[in-house]
Amino acid sequence: MWLIGDEDRLRQVLLNLLNNAVKFTARGRIDLSVTLSGSKEGAVQLRCSVQDTGIGIPADKRDRLFQRFSQVDGSIGRDFGGSGLGLAISKALVERMGGAIGVESVIDHGSTFWFALELPVASEPAIVLEASSNSSGRFGRRLLLAEDVPLNQDLARAILERAGHSVDVVSDGAAAVAAVQVKTYDLVLMDIQMPGMDGMSATRHIRALKGAAVRMPIVAMTANVLPEQVAEFRAAGMDDHIGKPFRQDALLSVVARWASDGAHAAVISDLDSSVFNEMRDMVGHERMVGLLAMLADELTQRFGPSSHSHERKQIAEDAHAMVSATSMVGFASLATLCREVETVCRSKEDHTVLLGILRARSSETVARIATIRSELTLSLAG
Ligand code: ADP
Repeated sequence: MWLIGDEDRLRQVLLNLLNNAVKFTARGRIDLSVTLSGSKEGAVQLRCSVQDTGIGIPADKRDRLFQRFSQVDGSIGRDFGGSGLGLAISKALVERMGGAIGVESVIDHGSTFWFALELPVASEPAIVLEASSNSSGRFGRRLLLAEDVPLNQDLARAILERAGHSVDVVSDGAAAVAAVQVKTYDLVLMDIQMPGMDGMSATRHIRALKGAAVRMPIVAMTANVLPEQVAEFRAAGMDDHIGKPFRQDALLSVVARWASDGAHAAVISDLDSSVFNEMRDMVGHERMVGLLAMLADELTQRFGPSSHSHERKQIAEDAHAMVSATSMVGFASLATLCREVETVCRSKEDHTVLLGILRARSSETVARIATIRSELTLSLAG
C-alpha cells in the first residue's frame, strides 16, 4: 500500500522521539511500532509509538512537555536540560499534518510517545524510484498530480520525474484535498474531470482550508480551454491552466513558472526557505519571532564568545541539543555541523577545528536571525 505523507516531517518527528528514548534509557529496550487501521475510504490511520524502559516522566512535567511555544518570551530557563524544543516542534509538525501526539509514562518504568495521523492512500507508482527523492526534493519540486486516467498519470509522472521533480499521484479530487493537508507541495496539477470530486470543487475546497495549502499554486489540466471555461477555473481559485493532451515542454514550463523558488518567499542562503516558511505558517508570525529569539539565545549561550566550554562531553551535549531545533527551523547545514561536532566529541578524534567552524557558523546564524526577525516584525507591523 502506498500512502501520501510528508516523509521529511515524519522522519523528523520519529527521530526526535527515538533520540529522546535513547537518551533517557540507560538500559533496557526501545520498541518502535507502526500500526495501520482502516478509517474512512481512501485514507488510513497510521499510528507510530516509541516505547522505552527509561527513567519515565513525572505527571506534573508531562503536560508541559509539548508546550514550549506557549512560553516563548525568551526568559524561560532550560528547566528540561536540553533545548526543550524538540517535542514542541514535533507537536506542531504532527498537528500541521492533521494528527495528534501524546505520551504515557510511568516513573522509573518508561515512557511511550506516540503520534497518530490519517494519511491518504496514493495510486501505486508505475516506477519505483531509488530512495533519492528526499535529497533531490531540495532541487526538484514537490508536485501533486490529481488525475484519474492511469495512462495520463504515467505519462505526466515520467516527464516530471525525469526532470528531477518528485510526484505524488492521486486519482480524484477528494484525495487531492486530503493530500495537501498532510504535505506541502510546490504545485498541484489538477485534472478537471475526475470521478467523485472534480478538479473545480477540489480547488474550492483547498482554497477554503486554513494554513499553507490555501496559497499552493494549482494548475488546471484540461482539454477545455475556451475563454469562459478558463474564467471559471480562475473563479474556482486556480492559478493557471495547461491544455490536454499536454506537451512535455509545456508541462515543464508550467512547473517552472509556478513552482520555482522565486514563487515562494525570499531564498535566504543556508536557510531552507520552504522549511522555514512552513514552520512560520504553522506557528504564526508572532510566535516565529519568539522562536527565533529563543534559538538565537540558545546558540549564543552554547557556542557564543563567552561559552568557551572545553569539556568534550559538554560540547557534545550542547551540539546535540541544537540538532533538531536548528533543522526544524530550516538551518539545515548548521544542524549537520552540530551533528558532526557531537560525533567527533564523542569519539577520540580532534574536535577543535570543527568546533571552531561551528562557533563561527553559529554566530553568523545569530546575526542572520536578527535580520530575519526584524523583517518578520516589520511585516507584522505593516
Ligand atoms: P530536548 O530533548 O532537546 O530537551 P525535547 O522537547 O525533545 O527537548 O524533550 C524535552 C524533555 O522531555 C527532555 O529534556 C526530557 O526531560 C523529557 N523527555 C523527552 N523524552 C523523554 C523520554 N523518552 N523519557 C524521559 N524523559 C523524556
